[in-house]
Amino acid sequence: MTALLQGGCRCGVARYEVDLSNSFTLNCHCIDCQKHLGAPYSVFTIVQANQFKWLSKPNGNIAFSDLATRSFCDKCGTYLKWEGKNESDKAEFNAMTLDNSIEVTVDAEIFTRSRLNWIKALDNVPQYEAGRNIPASKPV
Ligand SMILES: [Zn+2]
Ligand SMILES: [Zn+2]
Repeated sequence: MTALLQGGCRCGVARYEVDLSNSFTLNCHCIDCQKHLGAPYSVFTIVQANQFKWLSKPNGNIAFSDLATRSFCDKCGTYLKWEGKNESDKAEFNAMTLDNSIEVTVDAEIFTRSRLNWIKALDNVPQYEAGRNIPASKPV
């Protein structure tokens, strides 16, 4: 069974379609996400690459490290997708850009070492002090 949803940036220039089957969603408290979104943390959903399809691709690209490129809309600034250099089999997109973000539930929290002290850990959700390589990262 598929769970096809659509999403896009705030101005509508960038649009995508995604199949949320077997998706995995995390709250990322890393400093790059905090700065790039101007928010306490990001909410990202991971699917297999072939489950994500741009309907109209954004033009903005920025890299804050050698690990990944981030796609954003160069008209309205919305951050849409994280593209890991060694994770081309996966698609990681900003779950808050879904037309109906309520469809996702959070499965893990990462980079909790930089979580703001006024943000509480989610109950019954695994907490990782760092990294995207979740199984190798140390739970806290
Ligand atoms: Zn836009
Ligand atoms: Zn992050």
